[in-house]
Amino acid sequence: MILATPSAPLVDRQAKPGGSVFSVGGVEIGGPEVIVFAGPCAVESEAQIIAAARAVKAGGARILRGGAFKPRTSPYSFQGLKDEGLGLLVLARAETGLPVVTEVMDARHLEKVVACADILQIGSRNMQNFTLLEEVGQCRTPVLLKRGMSATLAEYIHAAEHVMRGGNERVILCERGIRTFEPSTRNTLDLNAVPMLKRLTHLPVIVDPSHGTGLAWMVPRLACAAIAAGADGLLIEVHGDPSSALSDGEQALTFDQFARMMPEAAAVAAAVGRRIGAVIDMDLRGTERAS
Ligand code: PEP
Ligand code: MN
Repeated sequence: MILATPSAPLVDRQAKPGGSVFSVGGVEIGGPEVIVFAGPCAVESEAQIIAAARAVKAGGARILRGGAFKPRTSPYSFQGLKDEGLGLLVLARAETGLPVVTEVMDARHLEKVVACADILQIGSRNMQNFTLLEEVGQCRTPVLLKRGMSATLAEYIHAAEHVMRGGNERVILCERGIRTFEPSTRNTLDLNAVPMLKRLTHLPVIVDPSHGTGLAWMVPRLACAAIAAGADGLLIEVHGDPSSALSDGEQALTFDQFARMMPEAAAVAAAVGRRIGAVIDMDLRGTERAS
């Protein structure tokens, strides 16, 4: 057995040549369905997160996202509702049945985040916070590990190995754009990473075109491109009123824009032999409707 990355044997494709498929709250990740994770950048209020949860579910999302602890560049920007935000995510899950993903920024918060989240997000800024990676490795809650904004794929793969070495086998990788010399977009979405990570590792790979571009109008095109490149899922920021969002409003889709993106994404998924949640079920199978 020849490993592509001998120093990351647990993550290496050879450890599971068929690819990892696992279930989170009844949602199968890494299987034939392209899983859409959607919701606001940050949980802002009960009304906001409940409306967003309902809207993304109606559009075909399978997982609700929303930050309670927000890593912000300025200490004066909105830092998230923290504990209150976690409680609101639990409420939104109860309301819609969607499993939730939310970021854990600090190992000191891990216990309370684990108590509320179905998936723990490790943000780009913490991809090489090795003590945090080891702590989440000790948990049995699945982890969505975002690529560091300046991380090579080798560094990224080793970060995932840190999590898996603790025994946490359910790790999802997420390409979210990297820093390049190009200033017209927030980041440069590195779609090369998708086939490369699928080749080098057995982990599901999803793509976040919201942070990858920083511009809402570009998100649907890049979402489709990500599916064509082989992504197992999408992470999409959606807000009821992006112009009043407390973080990342410029890259958030409105409920309508999200609803219009999903059939396009479903058509691309169908073209590459995959499907997307409820939308494809409605569009291509007539009356049948997924939950
Ligand atoms: C986010 O998902 O809102 C976020 C902060 O992402 P990243 O860590 O990729 O910047
Ligand atoms: Mn964000």
